[in-house]
Amino acid sequence: MDRRTALFGIGAFGLGAAGVFGLRSGTSGMALAAGGIEKIEKTEAEWRELLTPEQFAVLRSEKTERAFTSPLDKLYEDGVYHCAGCDLAVYPSETKYDSKTGWPSFYAPISQEVIGTKTDYYLIYPRTEVHCARCEGHFGHIFNDGPQPTGERHCLNGLALTFKPASA
Ligand SMILES: [Zn+2]
Repeated sequence: MDRRTALFGIGAFGLGAAGVFGLRSGTSGMALAAGGIEKIEKTEAEWRELLTPEQFAVLRSEKTERAFTSPLDKLYEDGVYHCAGCDLAVYPSETKYDSKTGWPSFYAPISQEVIGTKTDYYLIYPRTEVHCARCEGHFGHIFNDGPQPTGERHCLNGLALTFKPASA
């Protein structure tokens, strides 16, 4: 991760920690607040108004988009991937790689603070579900067959993310 992206990530995290919803990622360097991220809670009706039906199905109902359908899958530009629900900066382009699964895949998030995990049993075997730490929107799952340095594959739904190019 280069310095610029690291600073950008921290800036976005700072906004998140302050609980400011709806602000686009600013360039002002807010200090990293201690004590984690303030949650955003909305009713189902509010989420339905905010999200497309496809985004709602993934983020709020933990559905999985069809493989090879997301334009973000094969995107490798420099930038930052944000939560499509609350705009929190969550994954840097530096950790994105081609897992050949048909879903955008990363070996690490911007920081461990921006994600949460739980175990789900939608399939027969347990899986590690990963979601946004701020709005709890479902992103995808974490598997242990990823590349170094983490060995993790964060297999995410493109519908759960928005991409902001570094040049923008
Ligand atoms: Zn979110």
